[in-house]
Amino acid sequence: MTAQAAARRDVQTSSVKPHVLIVEDETALVELLRYNLEQSGFRVSVAHDGEEALTLVQEDMPDLVLLDWMLPLMSGIEVCRQLRRQTLTANLPIIMLTARSEEGDRVRGLDAGADDYVPKPFSPTELVARIRAVLRRIRPALADEALSYSDIVMDLVAHRVTRGGKPVHLGPTEFRLLRHFMEHPGRVFSREQLLDSVWGKDVYVEARTVDVHIRRLRIALNGDQRADLIRTVRAAGYALDVTPG
Ligand code: CA
Repeated sequence: MTAQAAARRDVQTSSVKPHVLIVEDETALVELLRYNLEQSGFRVSVAHDGEEALTLVQEDMPDLVLLDWMLPLMSGIEVCRQLRRQTLTANLPIIMLTARSEEGDRVRGLDAGADDYVPKPFSPTELVARIRAVLRRIRPALADEALSYSDIVMDLVAHRVTRGGKPVHLGPTEFRLLRHFMEHPGRVFSREQLLDSVWGKDVYVEARTVDVHIRRLRIALNGDQRADLIRTVRAAGYALDVTPG
């Protein structure tokens, strides 16, 4: 197998395993979480403080962030606010962990943009269930063999795509691109993020190659003047999105 094929295979494998970023400074808890999440089929990465979390998110976008409230240097609440303010992470699922359990804290956590809030101590089993619930709500694609968005249906087993019931013919790269978008509908990806996720980190491809494949994907999907579902976000990248603009 060539390095390129190996990189592609890794991309496909990793796109099936949901990726959770744990942001927590207590090593024992990190290891407990890592063990339980890996056993439950998640890919795990770890940041020990808020700054590291913000950097890691840019380098390797997770599907969900498990964010402790009490962190050194920058609080979890502040990390959550910063993630929500940035276009690329505005819709990233976030579950806050905290030893604080007063109702007012819960409200503050949700106000800062967290999708769920889990008080410590918690059972790992319950936490995994909460993670799955948030992912199902936000990314139903992670559990399914077929993806659908608007009038596009993607059969991942048969490798067939239809739009409005009519077949859409895609090359392998366009197929992977569309799959990536359909797994994260509404989320904006930069060209670099698309290169990493769709082509693979070890494959050298110029950023403008992304534009070429986006154009092909648009032509294949839009055919007879159907609405363009791929949104170009100036200076940021691309998203699969029904919202015009
Ligand atoms: Ca902590």
